Amino acid sequence: MTIQLHDTLRGSKVPFEPLNEGRVTMYLCGPTVYNYAHIGNARPAVVFDVLARLLRRHYDLTFARNFTDVDDKINAAAIESGKPIGEITERFKRAYNEDMGALGVLPPDIEPCATDHIGEMISMISALIEKGHAYEAEGHVLFDVDSNPDYGTLSKRDLREMIAGARIEVAPYKKAAHDFVLWKPSTPELPGWDSPWGRGRPGWHIECSAMAEKHLGNTIDIHAGGQDLVFPHHENEMAQSTSAHDGQAFARYWLHNGFLSLDHEKMSKSLGNVLLVHDLIKQIPGEVIRLALLSAHYRQPLDWSDETIESASRMLDRLYGAIRGVTVSDAALRAAEPPAGLLAALEDDLNTPKAMAEFFSLARSLNKTTDAATREQLAAAMLASGQLMGLLQQDPEDWFAGDVEGELGSEEIEALIEKRRAAKADKDFTTADAIRDQLLAAGVRIEDGPDGTSWRRA
Ligand code: AMP
Ligand code: ZN
Repeated sequence: MTIQLHDTLRGSKVPFEPLNEGRVTMYLCGPTVYNYAHIGNARPAVVFDVLARLLRRHYDLTFARNFTDVDDKINAAAIESGKPIGEITERFKRAYNEDMGALGVLPPDIEPCATDHIGEMISMISALIEKGHAYEAEGHVLFDVDSNPDYGTLSKRDLREMIAGARIEVAPYKKAAHDFVLWKPSTPELPGWDSPWGRGRPGWHIECSAMAEKHLGNTIDIHAGGQDLVFPHHENEMAQSTSAHDGQAFARYWLHNGFLSLDHEKMSKSLGNVLLVHDLIKQIPGEVIRLALLSAHYRQPLDWSDETIESASRMLDRLYGAIRGVTVSDAALRAAEPPAGLLAALEDDLNTPKAMAEFFSLARSLNKTTDAATREQLAAAMLASGQLMGLLQQDPEDWFAGDVEGELGSEEIEALIEKRRAAKADKDFTTADAIRDQLLAAGVRIEDGPDGTSWRRA
């Protein structure tokens, strides 16, 4: 078994080898806790949860996902709502874990909070100053980008191009326009900590470098996050950590997920098209959202629409439908393994669409088989696969009962559509129209097309 992962730094897919045999460390940049997570924020949490589950099959994994609980956006939210900062961050930390839990994301081993690591950040900043990689200026500490010749290698950016393209006003205390903040002064009403440079607060990038060092060591195996973090966040993390550790590699593999768009538009507050997981899980089972997030390869863009949700829901109907009514003994479950094809797909840079195809092939075999023992074996393999991907974790009866919840379930809808088709074939248009109205009243919109009738919840 060799896991292949696409490493952003090398720019290619490479065999994964941890620094220490048998052990793996992974760090995922977590949320800034000042509001609810949107569906795009859930993508890294879900895809790297699958990676964590896969790695745990072979390695002793230590997985850290942080909370950024000190940030100017949090300060702004506190001022706007008139609530204390701690109340806001606690509320949204809890909400994040509840929402991700609803999507089947297992808790990571460590969930460090930035505010619990100010001492470590101050130590790292002091070391950077001492080693000539950072300087103090007017209560700020800045990272001296020119002191790190490798700066720009992760995001493949040329520093000169960046400077030429920058139209921002340069703070007078900076030696160079591209130097970034490690520490900045706080006014009395803002959160602040005493430091050798006066009362202040950390820059965002140093938070992750300090937390990764404290919990996972100088060199971590995998560093993950969304592709928007490559620059400047991860470029800056890498510069800080390698400079503080005298050139030791910071992360052996950098993994970045692609972006999720909503009906082909960028999700943004100003466009008013931000879908919060918190709201979505009240309407759609978390498992449907999870599968929808895994339906595209993690490095590809993923467009979120009613169709994405509908198709994931139908996929789960098929998977649960296959195992429904098959009794699987504990012994069979313990002995079960996901099929080799599914494992190979996940081990190939987390190819979840291919893994799902393998999953369906298993379901098809099960549906075709009549021998009870073979059916039990196949159902057990499906459950083992489900465990690896965080799917099929509920009783099939609960799944089919669950999507009724005051509404028509998918199976009932399909049955009504079939009845309507038969009525239309018999030229009984009164019945056909009555069924359409019945579906519409239940909030289900149908559409007749060349390939038959499709439906969606209105
Ligand atoms: P933030 O709280 O904005 O730092 O985001 C938390 C995580 O969500 C980061 O890993 C981001 O890269 C990721 N992220 C934010 N927006 C999207 C999106 N639309 N699609 C995929 N990932 C996203
Ligand atoms: Zn980070």
